Amino acid sequence: MDDLVIRGGSVLDGTGAEAVAADVAIRDGRITAVVPRYSGTARREIDARGSTVAPGFIDIKTHSDFTLPYAPRAESMVRQGVTTEVVGHCGFSVAPALPGRARLLQEYLTGFAPWIEVRESTFADYLDRFPATSVNTIMQVGHNTLRLMTTGMEDRAPTKGELSAMKGLLEEGLSAGALGLSSGLFTAPGSFARPDELLALLEVVRRHGGAYATHVRSEGPAVFEAVREAIEAGERSGVHVQIVHMKLSGMDSWGRAGALLEEIETARRRGVRIDADAYPYACAANPLRNLLPLWVQEGGVAAMLERLRDRAIRRRVGREIDAHGLTSFGRIPSWDAVSVSTSRTRSRDAGRSIAALAREAGTSAIDLVCDLLTADGGATFVLICSIAEEDLQALLRSPAVLVGSDGRAVAPDSVAGQGRPHPRFYGTFPRVLGRYARDLGVLSLPTAVHKMTGRPAEILGLVDRGLLREGYRADLTVFDPATVIDRATYDDPSQYPLGISTVIVNGELVVEASQHTGALPGRVLRRGPSGVA
Ligand SMILES: [Zn+2]
Repeated sequence: MDDLVIRGGSVLDGTGAEAVAADVAIRDGRITAVVPRYSGTARREIDARGSTVAPGFIDIKTHSDFTLPYAPRAESMVRQGVTTEVVGHCGFSVAPALPGRARLLQEYLTGFAPWIEVRESTFADYLDRFPATSVNTIMQVGHNTLRLMTTGMEDRAPTKGELSAMKGLLEEGLSAGALGLSSGLFTAPGSFARPDELLALLEVVRRHGGAYATHVRSEGPAVFEAVREAIEAGERSGVHVQIVHMKLSGMDSWGRAGALLEEIETARRRGVRIDADAYPYACAANPLRNLLPLWVQEGGVAAMLERLRDRAIRRRVGREIDAHGLTSFGRIPSWDAVSVSTSRTRSRDAGRSIAALAREAGTSAIDLVCDLLTADGGATFVLICSIAEEDLQALLRSPAVLVGSDGRAVAPDSVAGQGRPHPRFYGTFPRVLGRYARDLGVLSLPTAVHKMTGRPAEILGLVDRGLLREGYRADLTVFDPATVIDRATYDDPSQYPLGISTVIVNGELVVEASQHTGALPGRVLRRGPSGVA
């Protein structure tokens, strides 16, 4: 007898093929039948008439390793239909944390996740002790973390000994089952690394059959050079490269998504293994301090705040931003494009723009920014609306670009879900299905689902997930294609989407009638010789 049968749904199998009417049966965590008419017996039955039955969505780009230990039900993710997440991105991983260095890593990560507690652990221990959660997770070793364990925050190349220590730590992580290496070349200390350091590490990744995910060096005016660096890393190492949360930020890049995608297509045609992912929003979230010129940020937050007391330095910062735009984000039409997301000292001003706050205070935008950073001890988070909708749509349409939320598993009542998160935490997948596929026709529904399931599974080397097929693991999502939509907005982000009724992870119902069941059937998936399982 089967455990469950989902009857009468329209099945999208994740390959990109058109939907077919079929019943889906599940037993012991696996799919036992995908048939036009199920004639067996099952303990439970779900009526899916009018709904689409798809493989569970794979979010190839999240930072949920910061939140899952504190929000194990992964509400914001599973309510979107996400059943597997790739974590440890942008160079940030919570392990390895060497004796005597865990505190440094904790201090570093505090800016992104103030609640986080980093314990000394090897990568293998970290995987073994990761708590039970509602989603499957795939881990990566972060390059910034490797740097913190060896060279600290110093702006220099690693010594021979340090590089070999980094390789050793990476090797340990890969042997324990990490998918590969992630880099965040936009911020210190990852930004201190030159391509040869990364190539040396990618040689280790290649030997293990691992992968490389990169937050490229610039998403602003230098995005073309940055993407070329990623292409070259793939070409010279032979390792698959994932360019995460790809975007063209700043007015100077608007309208150039086609040209950027052409560079990737050209590389793919000559055999470079490279893909990208994007989230379906035109605004990005970032610490406010990251928008300032790099020389102001040098030496850490205390050094930066000290500099910002000097009026001459503030004027120079203002001049540089006027001339070259915001670091990482490029030129913006005005400070109306940047608004406060979370501020310790001015939480009432969340949602208001820097321009409006400066007008109200009768001061310049730069002074407002500096005063805000000073008051918040450098920890202010902002929303930057610097992406053109036409570029976003070009990315979503491209076969080289998958769906990745760059979000985190949170819930409105979890310690990790406080403040005003980016709406992508709650809305990415239903927004692509509802707004971009159904309402705007940017891509077809089977293609959208393929980019969320079969295609990422293929890239990641998942052994038995990502397709709706007999024998595969029973990770499934049932949604109403006519009503599925995100509800999270910039002003009110902590809202679950509509139209996603049932989510199953490893054969267990995690979402039923659009409510979380409390089940925690997720597993840490490990990369082995035959793939990720
Ligand atoms: Zn990133």
